[in-house]
Amino acid sequence: MSLSIKSMALKYAALGFSIIPLCPGDHSCMSDTHIATCRSPGKRPLIKEWQNAEVPSEQQVEEWFRRWPSANIGLVLGSRSGFVALDVDGQFGQDKLLEISAGNHLSDAWQFSTPGGGMRYVYAAPKGRDCRKFSISDSNPNHIHSELAFLGDGCCTVLPPSKHANGGIYTWIKPTKFFYH
Ligand SMILES: [Zn+2]
Repeated sequence: MSLSIKSMALKYAALGFSIIPLCPGDHSCMSDTHIATCRSPGKRPLIKEWQNAEVPSEQQVEEWFRRWPSANIGLVLGSRSGFVALDVDGQFGQDKLLEISAGNHLSDAWQFSTPGGGMRYVYAAPKGRDCRKFSISDSNPNHIHSELAFLGDGCCTVLPPSKHANGGIYTWIKPTKFFYH
């Protein structure tokens, strides 16, 4: 069974996740000003100072979805929120991940697929460690957006079941039971 974006947002908030509303991929319900200036449909945070967002209350989530009924969900990352993420895009990203993890299976991570063909792994933020973003990109100019990125402080990640600008749905691969029961 799949839940609506709003139901999942309520669930994440109840679980203590620092989630934020993002604009919808198709920009439905967004203002002309937003549409004219947004360069990341489906990914742009809709609240100010989202980097410092606390875990929202149920009322707060309800209010967001009243205002933006088709909003996507973002998760604030970094030591504050308690989560970091690995963004694996393209063959280059997969190869780099294998190289860095010495071929080991990333057993402790939550994992979801992104509609652009990538994979994202979510981890608990390492305590007392710097969580700054870094990325290793494919230097081949013919490859479009193929990279391995570590996302931490000052970053956010889109969460399932948000809808990408290409119409695809971000989907949990694991732990599905935890989120979709
Ligand atoms: Zn937008």
